[in-house]
Amino acid sequence: MFCVECGKDEPIFRNGVCLNCYLKATQFSKGPAILDIIMCPRCSSYKYKNTWLQESFDDILKRYVKEAFTVSPELKHVEIQTQCKAQERILACMVFISGSLEDQTITEQHPITVRIRHNTCEICSREAGGYYEAILQIRADQRKFTDTELKTLRSAVETMVGQYQESGKRGLFITDIAEKREGLDFFLSEKGTAFSIAKRVQDQFGGDFKQSASSAGMKDSRQVYRMTYLVRIPAYRKGDFFLFDNSFFLIVSLHENKVRALELSAWTEKVIDGKDIQPSRIYGGKELIREMIVVSQSKNEIQLMDPKTYATVEIRKPKTASVDTAMVKTVKLDGYLFLVPEKIG
Ligand SMILES: [Zn+2]
Ligand SMILES: [Zn+2]
Repeated sequence: MFCVECGKDEPIFRNGVCLNCYLKATQFSKGPAILDIIMCPRCSSYKYKNTWLQESFDDILKRYVKEAFTVSPELKHVEIQTQCKAQERILACMVFISGSLEDQTITEQHPITVRIRHNTCEICSREAGGYYEAILQIRADQRKFTDTELKTLRSAVETMVGQYQESGKRGLFITDIAEKREGLDFFLSEKGTAFSIAKRVQDQFGGDFKQSASSAGMKDSRQVYRMTYLVRIPAYRKGDFFLFDNSFFLIVSLHENKVRALELSAWTEKVIDGKDIQPSRIYGGKELIREMIVVSQSKNEIQLMDPKTYATVEIRKPKTASVDTAMVKTVKLDGYLFLVPEKIG
């Protein structure tokens, strides 16, 4: 058969013309000459349909092209490539649309102008407007926090917020932090995550957890509540020494309202209710630990020497204690001297 277009003796592909002539005469893709892409100037996320996406300009441009261009269904295995020359907020781009038809690969080029439109996303406008859904309050029970504790707590919460943000909680941010004499207030944008953070603070530092709601007015004819999550951190800390039931203990770990403590004369562990630890019976923490020189030891006793005064003293050794170092950690509480385990002391 002869092609009506080129007159060659070729197999007819469609409408009396050969494949070559068909490809020459057919436009397989078309789209607009100008594309507007919306970008948030604060966080650089792009708006696509009704969501804000944090992805590269290349990826977002492909989405927009896919949406705005029509490609003939005759073309199989369609791929879109783009090349752009940036000039401020207007880019001259070339869109390449390729696909296959009857073993032929077809690539069509479309020059387009991409305009970047600025529009602040909902999250950034909330952030700028001081939006918050929850207050995380951290307080100390029957005492004030030291500066070091305030720093530790603040960075612990900030780290947790950072972790949630990295794991995809884009709507989470700290609107404000109030550092007061009695503790810290974090104003957080998401109450669900604020709750999780409060529980994690309690896990890490021990203490009580309370929540309360207060009305924050109406929104879309619905009552809106703000949550307050209060974590009251106890007077004791991990590593503190205290007196309980006529025995001396060292706090090994914190568990909500309980502590795991080591009885110092026998080195046995016991779980004690936090409320049974009276603030007046807490001696302090690792600042009380002194190193002493091991002079000699037997099965049940150990002789120690103070490295400053050279005074020696012999004390009973806990059954489970095996000492193979030249120096040991000790603590003196109410005049009694105890060995402190190397790893937790
Ligand atoms: Zn032809
Ligand atoms: Zn934004």
